[in-house]
Amino acid sequence: MGIEVNFEGKIALITGASSGLGARFAKVLAQAGAQVVLAARRTDRLKELRAEIEADGGAAHMVQLDVTDYASIKSAIAHAETEAGPIDILINNAGVSSLQRLLDVTPDDYADIMDTNLRGAFFVAQETAKRMVARAKGDPKKQHRIVNIASVAGMRVAPQLGMYCVSKAGVIHMTKAMALEWGKYGINVNAICPGYISTEINQGFFDTDEGKKLIATLPRNRVGAAEDLDGLLLLLAAEESRFLNGTIVSADDGMSLF
Ligand code: NAD
Repeated sequence: MGIEVNFEGKIALITGASSGLGARFAKVLAQAGAQVVLAARRTDRLKELRAEIEADGGAAHMVQLDVTDYASIKSAIAHAETEAGPIDILINNAGVSSLQRLLDVTPDDYADIMDTNLRGAFFVAQETAKRMVARAKGDPKKQHRIVNIASVAGMRVAPQLGMYCVSKAGVIHMTKAMALEWGKYGINVNAICPGYISTEINQGFFDTDEGKKLIATLPRNRVGAAEDLDGLLLLLAAEESRFLNGTIVSADDGMSLF
């Protein structure tokens, strides 16, 4: 007798779904049977992804979302639930990065990173969790999942990425605090800390001399592809991960081992 992890009947909202990891997470969850809600600012990209998912036999909706704008978060989550139904799974993925020395960071630079990576992730999770908690009060057996996308940069610092590291360290602590407070409502909150994965956030960098030097320092001299996170994402999003709460999982091909 086999065990099948099945997401049929589940609704998953993915932020930052217009590219990179977010687009991949949406495809994987749709392939596993979930109805996905694609959320990002670039709706032209979301339309293309929705068509791709539907062509593969999946079900997808889309909502415009700017995570730096509290009103946009509230309306996008409300819109998502009206369109698709109650959100069972949130993949809190939208993020930005920039290469900059801490000495050069202006208040605007600070806000650019923190408002997306930490403030944005916090209020997306809070708005979704308010609805999850209300449902859990009516049905204590209800299971919800929140997966925050942090980074290995949240656990160790790296040159020129100081501000990004600070924001992702915040996401890691935020994950634990949410897990502690919301676990009793059947909301499991966990975080993935990816290592280097080739996406738009680091586009072109790995082809530069500096990028090649960095790859040479990695244990297997390679960076990952978005699909390398499929298994972990499915695990943390599944009901079967019942006893995983407040867990911070590195998916970095061993880069944080030394
Ligand atoms: P990406 O640039 O392809 O994707 C980031 C997504 O977030 C984009 O779709 C972007 O439009 C969206 N986004 C940015 N600001 C937004 C806003 N204000 N409102 C809504 N959406 C917004 O890069 P990615 O690598 O796919 O990044 C996804 C997540 O993974 C990020 O949180 C990133 O920090 C994290 N991460 C990436 C790596 C990596 O090596 N690629 C490593 C560790 C962590």
